[in-house]
This record gives sequence, C-alpha cells and structure tokens, in this order.
Amino acid sequence: MPQEVPDTEENMNICKQFCGPCPTFKPNKLNEIEPHALFCARGASEKPQKEIEEKACNCFDCGVFKKYDLKGGWFCIYGTQGKE
Ligand code: SF4
Ligand code: SF4
Repeated sequence: MPQEVPDTEENMNICKQFCGPCPTFKPNKLNEIEPHALFCARGASEKPQKEIEEKACNCFDCGVFKKYDLKGGWFCIYGTQGKE
C-alpha cells in the first residue's frame, strides 16, 4: 500500500535529483509554479493539467517512490495518487 510522503527537506533533496532532470519538469516550467516539486507529498502542480505536456516521468527510479511504496507516477499532473 502506498504511504503518505512527508514534506521534508530530505525528501525534497531526493526529489530534485529525479524531478529536476525529468523532461516533463523544466520544459513545462513546473519549477516556477507552486508547489515547485515533491508532488507526491504536496500534490499536483498548480499549472492546469491540460497545459502540462507529458513527456517522461522519473519518479519510478526515485528513492522516495520506492520507500513509500508509491504507485502511478506523474504526481505533478495527477496529484498524490499518481496516474491511474
Ligand atoms: S516520487 Fe517523484 S515527485 Fe516524489 S520525490 Fe520522487 S521524483 Fe519527486
Ligand atoms: S512527478 Fe514525475 S513527471 Fe512530474 S516532473 Fe516529477 S518525475 Fe517528472
């Protein structure tokens, strides 16, 4: 079962290594819009879903994803539940 991800500096530092280089992240300027990153804890980007161009998702390789048994990925678009 997926667990709730704490919004901590430690998790943010891990997130930066995966969301940071993700092809969906910078080209969509998600870093400039709340909540910036750590979408699996903080929820989807405030950028409207239909305006985010889906490219790849690096979440599946991220240590936070594994530690909290997350599912779905694409948390920046679909929020903490991830993609169905
Ligand atoms: S699972 Fe995705 S959103 Fe969550 S910390 Fe890792 S890279 Fe960031
Ligand atoms: S949540 Fe997934 S798709 Fe979105 S920026 Fe992070 S790694 Fe990329």
